[in-house]
This record gives sequence, structure tokens and C-alpha cells, in this order.
Amino acid sequence: CGVFGIWGHERASELTYIALHSMQHRGQEGAGIVCSNNDYLFGARGTGLLTNALSNEQLLSLKGFPHAIGHVRYAAKGSSELSNVQPFLFKSSRGDLGICHNGNLVNALNVRAALEDDGAIFQTTSDAEILAHLIRRSKQSTHKERVKSALKQVKGAFSYLVMQEHALTVAMDDHGVRPLMLGELDGCYCVASETCAFDAIGANYIRDVEPGELITINDDGIEFDRYSDIDNPNMCSMEYIYFARADSNFRGHSTYRIRKALGRKLAESLGHIEADIVIGVPDSSLAAANGVAEVLHIPQEQGLIKNRYVGRTFIDKGQEARERKVRMKLSTVKDIVEGKRVIVIDDSIVRGTTSKYIVKALRDAGALEVHMGVASPPLIHPCFYGVDVSTHAEIIASQKSISEICEEIGADTLTYMEVEDMHDVYRSFGSRGECAACFTGNYPIEIIDNLLPQQK
Ligand code: 5GP
Ligand code: SF4
Ligand code: MG
Repeated sequence: CGVFGIWGHERASELTYIALHSMQHRGQEGAGIVCSNNDYLFGARGTGLLTNALSNEQLLSLKGFPHAIGHVRYAAKGSSELSNVQPFLFKSSRGDLGICHNGNLVNALNVRAALEDDGAIFQTTSDAEILAHLIRRSKQSTHKERVKSALKQVKGAFSYLVMQEHALTVAMDDHGVRPLMLGELDGCYCVASETCAFDAIGANYIRDVEPGELITINDDGIEFDRYSDIDNPNMCSMEYIYFARADSNFRGHSTYRIRKALGRKLAESLGHIEADIVIGVPDSSLAAANGVAEVLHIPQEQGLIKNRYVGRTFIDKGQEARERKVRMKLSTVKDIVEGKRVIVIDDSIVRGTTSKYIVKALRDAGALEVHMGVASPPLIHPCFYGVDVSTHAEIIASQKSISEICEEIGADTLTYMEVEDMHDVYRSFGSRGECAACFTGNYPIEIIDNLLPQQK
């Protein structure tokens, strides 16, 4: 998912809309905005892409509110119906509450069951609703302390935005799994999942929100605090590899440059291959392919073209839908590929749908050899922190060896990146630590719900 929030700007809802649009790649199943005018909260939301999710009438109704939070939804968990679209808006006698988040709790079932036993009734299957209940139930005397005590009870990967009439509270989980950035526009503070949102609205990036940090923004300014003593940075490797937009920055380095460095590293293992051209799978792998091409001194060509009117295939539910979409999305430039020995670079292989199709399409276009390079290590394990790489059964590398995958996708050779090489690349860009659990099986945050006896 993608989140955005801004405090005290006369064009708050419009800026939120633009910011969310720039983060559409982070979620395509729904979008919403909740605004405050210091007296009450008001919101609008809908399913699908942002431009479909919110009508002009809805946007007009949000005009003039100076404070806003917004969300684009990627349903890693919970179904994609409207009731699950964020931000949620809660009415309570202590004041309204708007909440949205990016990530996934690992003790949601646990906390939810306890809340239900205590009388709570849920309207959705979303983790964001859990936090609202915990905040409302807290016996602390200030809003900030109530949020803190709620955050202490949830575990997992999250960046939460909590809007009240008079304040916006922002929290990052103490492992810092999902990105969250602080920025400024016209003297107003804003937060976003990615810096591309700041560029879209003309805001300045200030800094990354830190693991375990709690930030309060209101008319008096900004207040930095912590709700956890743990500061254990485990930024999701997949954000660098695939998820984030190429022009988004991490600590001042573009994702493009990080991906290119991954490609340069991968190239060290591809040196023995004699090839005529390097092709990146558009869009997320073009940077890595560029790195490979530079190191190997082989020209990078646009041998695969992406139809820009097709969204992210991976996010589609159902294997048949994904296969159909890959076919609709990628086509070959026969004139470029014919008679060539090709190195094709993709950022990752999950189910193998994309690479299988690509290898065949390149051969059909007349490629003499197709060597597949993957700018990340074999993805073996499911993610419990908000990326829907689903079950072991669907993940090709958890079922097959590298040579079996190579055979299955029909490539001449298949080369992956080493885990340590990947970490080295991130370190060289100032990263303090990354989650790589889907590659290694070492989960930095214990999956508490899995320890429970299975619930009905
Ligand atoms: P596959 O087709 O093997 O199932 O998925 C691999 C393709 O999906 C790659 O082209 C990659 O760009 C994209 N992809 C890889 N990992 C993820 C992920 O975690 N989330 C999403 N949305 N897409 C991914
Ligand atoms: Fe990211 Fe993989 Fe960790 Fe999930 S398990 S947070 S996808 S690195
Ligand atoms: Mg791709």
C-alpha cells in the first residue's frame, strides 16, 4: 500500500490526490482520503485505481479541509471490497479517528480475538481497524499516550497514519520494514511512503521516519517521540528490488541507482556468457539490466515492450488472470531480438509466470539463446509483512532447484544474485539493515499468529 498525509495546507485534499496518484504502483485495489477541518473528519473512498475510486463530486466535497491523509490499497490480506478500503473513519464520543496503514501485523488474529472476547465488533478484516480499537480502549489520559499504548500491543510491519480533528500522528514499526518519509511543503509537514509523492506535489524531503518513531503534527508544529526502545532497521529488500518507484529515493539515493548497482553485482556472475544484447523486463528491471550491460560491455536494447495500460500483473489474483495479463502486458520487438543471443534481466522470479512467458516470447521472436539473470536471490519463503508472495506451494523456488527452474522456464542458463551480495549493495547505499526473509527464511519479526492453533 501507499500512504500520504499533510497538515495545514489549503489544498490538502488535492495534494493528497496527486501524491496518491504518484504512488498508484503501490496499490491498485482501492483508494481513499480522510480530511479534517479541526472540528470533524470527513472522508471519501472507492475501489479500483485512484482515478476511478474517487469521483469529482467526492473530491469537491473534500475541498477546503486543511488536513488530510490518504491511502492506495494493495490487498496483501483481506479482500478487495469497499469495506476494506482505507483510510477508515471512526466516530467516537472522544472525537473522530481516521486511520490508514501500510504493512501487515503478525499478531492481528491474536489481538483481534482478545478484543472480540472483550466485546469489540469488527467491520473489516483490516489491521488498521485493530489499532483504532486499541486506541479507543486505552486508559491513558492523552491521545498520544493512547496511541503509544496501542502501538505497543501490535507487532509486525507497519507505517500508521492516525488523523484526529487536531492532530496527525505517524508511527513506524520498530523494525522499519516499510518505507515512510517526512517532507515539507509551503511550511506544512507531510509524510509519504515514497519520495516520488513529494516530487509530485513539489514538497521537500526532510528525512526517513525511523523505526519505532512516533511523530505528532498539529497546528503547533511537529513533535518527535518514540513508542519503542527497539531500533532494529529491517527495510524490506523487495522495496529496493521491485516495489518502490525508480525515481523514489532512499537516503538520497534513487531506487534506480540501487537497482542498477544490483545489476552491476549480478553481472559479475554473468561474465562467462557470450551474448549480443541485454534486455530488461520493463519497467522494474530496466535499471538492473542497465547495470549488467555496462559491466559486460554489451548493448542494452529494448527488446521487450510494455503496454502501459496494463497494471502490475503480480498484484492480480488467480494464476489464469496473471498469465493473461503478462501476455497483454509484454511483447517482443522482433526486429531487435531476431538472430541474437540474449541476456534477459528480471528483478525477481516469484511464481515463474513472467519468466516462462518471456523466454518463450523471445525464442518465438527468433532469439538464438536466452540467458535469464535475476537481480535478486531465489525467492523461497512467503512474506508476512505486507507483500503478497503468498504460499510456499505457489513460489517456484520453494518447490524446485535452480536448474529445475531453468528447465521449467525454458532458458539456456539461469543466474540469481547471492544474498550476501545483495546486502552488500544496500550497505553501500547507507542502509542500516534489510529484511531478506523471503530469500533466507530468517524472519526478523516473529510470526505470532502462526504460533496459535489454527482458527476457524
Ligand atoms: P512471477 O511472474 O514470477 O510470479 O513474478 C515475477 C514478476 O513479478 C517480476 O517481473 C517482478 O517484477 C514482479 N514481482 C516480483 N515480486 C513481486 C512482489 O512482491 N510484488 C509484486 N507486486 N510484484 C512482484
Ligand atoms: Fe520484504 Fe521479503 Fe521481508 Fe516481506 S519477507 S518484508 S517481501 S524482504
Ligand atoms: Mg516485472
